[in-house]
Amino acid sequence: MRGVFCTKELTIGIDGGPVSARSMLGDLIPGCDIFCLDQIHSGRVVFAEDLAPLETPRADGIISRDPDAVLCVRTADCVPVLAWAGDMPLNAAVHAGWRGLAQGIVATCIRMMRALGARDIRAGIGPSIGPCCYEVGREVVEALGAEPFVRVDGSQTVDLREAARSQLLDSGVSGSAIEMHDLCTACNTDRFFSYRRQGQQAGRNLSLIGGKSWSLPGLPVG
Ligand SMILES: [Zn+2]
Repeated sequence: MRGVFCTKELTIGIDGGPVSARSMLGDLIPGCDIFCLDQIHSGRVVFAEDLAPLETPRADGIISRDPDAVLCVRTADCVPVLAWAGDMPLNAAVHAGWRGLAQGIVATCIRMMRALGARDIRAGIGPSIGPCCYEVGREVVEALGAEPFVRVDGSQTVDLREAARSQLLDSGVSGSAIEMHDLCTACNTDRFFSYRRQGQQAGRNLSLIGGKSWSLPGLPVG
């Protein structure tokens, strides 16, 4: 297994969309099938093996049993989660924003991995906006069902990474099998894109997982 949360230099110069990301990754990682998603902030997780060649499904999570598959999610503040099985070839990538988390997308992904026979599931939670910067309204707090942080001015923030970790733990993934990067994308725009800081101009941070070995700039997991 090889997983990495890439830093922004990888995607500078491309538009950050799924088609250009797949094309660029195809050049960097030859010999592998690259899967990117048309991300819609849903709770939907798909199997790569069910897709047509070059299909870009409307979904926010993807699972594959094929070691030649490289699964990619694109984020700019949302939480990237990479998961894999230690006891069989099985990898997954999830794009988890507040809407996806409220719909239980991380728990859905783990449930689908277990249905395929995985027992020893491990996961990495990547750089995303932290509770230092993720100010939200009441609807997000209520949708996540998480305890907010209340600032002195009365504004509220939530911890999306912790919400993702909670779903992993509630799904039976051991705390010792979860690696969490606590870098905030909005505090570290020298290394990552942040939608909150850069708005529509923000590029996308790529997170990838596959069964082969390759090297890209970023934070390796596993
Ligand atoms: Zn921050």
